[in-house]
Amino acid sequence: MPERRQIIAGNWKMHKTVAEASYYAVELLERVGAVGSPEIVVCAPFTALAALKDELEESVVHLGAQNMSWAAEGAYTGEISARMLKELACTYVILGHSERRELMHETDEEIARKVKAALEAELTPILCVGENLRQREEGRASDVVRGQVEQDLAGLGEEELRRIVIAYEPIWAIGTGKTASSQDAQEMCADIRWTVAQMSGSAASGMSILYGGSVKPENIAELMRKPDIDGALVGGASLDPAGFATLVENA
Ligand code: PGA
Repeated sequence: MPERRQIIAGNWKMHKTVAEASYYAVELLERVGAVGSPEIVVCAPFTALAALKDELEESVVHLGAQNMSWAAEGAYTGEISARMLKELACTYVILGHSERRELMHETDEEIARKVKAALEAELTPILCVGENLRQREEGRASDVVRGQVEQDLAGLGEEELRRIVIAYEPIWAIGTGKTASSQDAQEMCADIRWTVAQMSGSAASGMSILYGGSVKPENIAELMRKPDIDGALVGGASLDPAGFATLVENA
């Protein structure tokens, strides 16, 4: 079985100005030094990426965006393309976050187009999937997440699937302080791996699958011990550089 990459990715969401981002980068680097594993990723607002490129390009911290357009270029007012992100040294891009699905009404069809566009530009998509509370209470969590994975990755070949990271983020656990139990998170991540395995067995066994939803320095170790959880996508607890560095250390 191929070695799976362990990844701790911070999702700043709509937080931090350029000045705050630069300060954060210096503080984080002081604390993580030359850590080789887990891989550390910071997914920042578009406006902070250029400054972060200057601070982080030669470091162990990888840079990511939180969204991008499926279009390569053209008359798309307000959009940002994969090529623009590449120029700012991004190697990752979060796609299909539940906040975008819910608040901006992003559909699986659009997300699938974004995944393809990211892969074409050689960015690594961190594809977010996850059920809401009602779907979980109705016993439909697995079906919902399986459907998202199948639709968002539709038509991709084995070589493309190998370059994808999936983050399982139950919506009821995001920003609520309510983490999924490590057992529930493990079951869902195993289910995601199984779903990918129906498309390509070897891509599934090598794929990094992250958990996200109220991950903190106190609960990361237990989550990481689970066989199908290879890391975390961290919102609130990634905003403070010292706290995030502790989380990385505990992973
Ligand atoms: P949270 O957010 O860690 O603040 O729950 C996670 C996410 O939305 O990616």
